[in-house]
Amino acid sequence: MLEKKQKSLDQIRADILSKNICLDLAQEAKNLVMGHGDLDAEIVFIGEAPGKLEDEAGKPFVGASGKFLDSMLEKIGLDRTNVFITNIVKYRPPKNRDPLQKEKEDFLPFLYREIELIKPKIIVTLGRHSMEFFLPSKLIGEVHGTVFDIDINGQKIKLLPLYHPAAAMYKGSLRSTLEQDFLKIKKLIKKLN
Ligand code: URA
Repeated sequence: MLEKKQKSLDQIRADILSKNICLDLAQEAKNLVMGHGDLDAEIVFIGEAPGKLEDEAGKPFVGASGKFLDSMLEKIGLDRTNVFITNIVKYRPPKNRDPLQKEKEDFLPFLYREIELIKPKIIVTLGRHSMEFFLPSKLIGEVHGTVFDIDINGQKIKLLPLYHPAAAMYKGSLRSTLEQDFLKIKKLIKKLN
C-alpha cells in the first residue's frame, strides 16, 4: 500500500515537471519540493512555498520555521515520521517573495492530488496562503485555531487554520497564540480516534 502511494506521489511530481507548471519559478529553483513524511498520516500540514534551505534540500520545512514546527510537533507527541508536510507552491519564489495568486492556482490541483493520496483526517494550514483555498472568505486573524469541516472530493476532513511559524517565530504574542493553537491538534486527534 505504501509502495503504491509512493508511486502515486512520484507520479504527481512527474506530472508537475512534464506539464511545465510555473516554468518561471522552475528555472530559478534548484529543486521541486514535494510533500514529505508519512504517506498514511492522519494529519497533513500545508505551508506556503519552499525557502532557500528547502530549495537546496528538496524537502519542505527544513529551515528555521521547520525547526520551530518540529518543536511544536514534539510538544504534542508527534514528529516528521507520523505527519505529512507539504506546501501550496512547490518551487521557491525568488528572494522568498510571497507566491503569486496564479502560482498558487497552478499548483492547487497537485495539492489536491497529494491530499487525495494521503487521505488525512485533519488538515492544518500554516499561514493565509494555504488557508485561503479552503476558507476563501475568512481572515486568518479571526479564524486561527478554529476547527472547520471541509469536504475534498467526498473526503470529510477537519481543517485547522494556524498562523505560519515564520510569522510567529519572532513575534512574542503571535508565537504564544500559535503555540496555544497547536495544542488543539492534540485534542482533535483524541476526539477523532
Ligand atoms: N515556509 C513554508 O511555507 N514552507 C517551507 O517549506 C518552508 C518555509
